Amino acid sequence: MYEMLCAGCGHRTAMMILDEIIKEKNIKEKIIMALDVACCSLLIDYVDYDAIMCAHGRVLDVTKGYKMMRDENIVISYMGDGAAYSIGIEEMIHSARRNDAVLAIVINNGLYSMTGGQVAPTYVGANVNAGVNVNVGVNVNVGADVNVGANVNAGADIIRPIVVTNVDTEGTKLSEPVSNDNNIGFKIENIIGNLPISYFARASITDKENIDTAKKYINTAFDKYIKSGGFNLVELLSPCPTNYKLKPVDMVNVINNGWSKVYKIGEIVNNV
Ligand code: SF4
Repeated sequence: MYEMLCAGCGHRTAMMILDEIIKEKNIKEKIIMALDVACCSLLIDYVDYDAIMCAHGRVLDVTKGYKMMRDENIVISYMGDGAAYSIGIEEMIHSARRNDAVLAIVINNGLYSMTGGQVAPTYVGANVNAGVNVNVGVNVNVGADVNVGANVNAGADIIRPIVVTNVDTEGTKLSEPVSNDNNIGFKIENIIGNLPISYFARASITDKENIDTAKKYINTAFDKYIKSGGFNLVELLSPCPTNYKLKPVDMVNVINNGWSKVYKIGEIVNNV
C-alpha cells in the first residue's frame, strides 16, 4: 500500500494502538471512525472498518448525530489539536458539558500539520526550555508606523512557526524546561476539567513505555464508553517530524524532555 504518513508520524502509532484494542475487544463490526480533515483524514485509507470524514472541527457534532441515530455503534472521534481545541472548541466544551457519549482521541502536535505547520493553541515549539516561545507570532507590523513587539517584519507570512531547536541531529541537548508557566500551550483540562465528564487522560506516543501507557488509557476510555457512555477523551502528545524539521528520534526527545513537562501526563479526570 502507498505510504501517506511521513516517517516518524504519531498518527501511525495512534492508529496501531486503536487497531490493537479493537482486535483485542473483537468489536470491529461496531466501529465507526469519525475523522477530522487534514492528516487525520489519511487514516481512512489505512483502517478496515467503517469511517466518516467530517468537516474541520465538527467531529463531535457528527459523533453526536450519529449516536442519536445508531446508538449500537462505537464511534471513535479522531481529531487533531487544531480541530479539537481551536476550530472545534465550541463543540468540545458543550459536548463535555452535556457529558455526551464520546470516545475521543486528540492528536496534539501543536500544529496544523497538513497545511504547512501553522501554530495551534497547543503550540509549545521544540525549544520549550526557553520558557516562552518568542518565535510565535512576533513578526507583526500593523500599518506603517505601528510596531507590536520587538521583532517587526513586514510581510504576510506571520503565523508560520519558526521552530528553533537546541537539539542537534546527533542527540538531545535540551536542558530542563520551564514547566510551570500556564501560558505555554493550551491545556484542555483547564476548560473541561471541572465539567461532569467521564474521563480525560493524556499520554505521549514516543517510545514503548509511553505507548503502553497510552494504550492503557485508551483502553480505559473504551471500557467506560462501552459500559456507561459519557465523555471520554484521551490526548496524545504526538510527533510531527516533518513540520518541526527534526529527525524522528530528535522529535521524540523534544516530546519526552520538553512537551511532557509542560503538559501533565496521566489520568487527569476519572469519574465513575
Ligand atoms: S505532516 Fe506531520 S502529522 Fe502530517 S503526516 Fe506528516 S508527520 Fe504526520
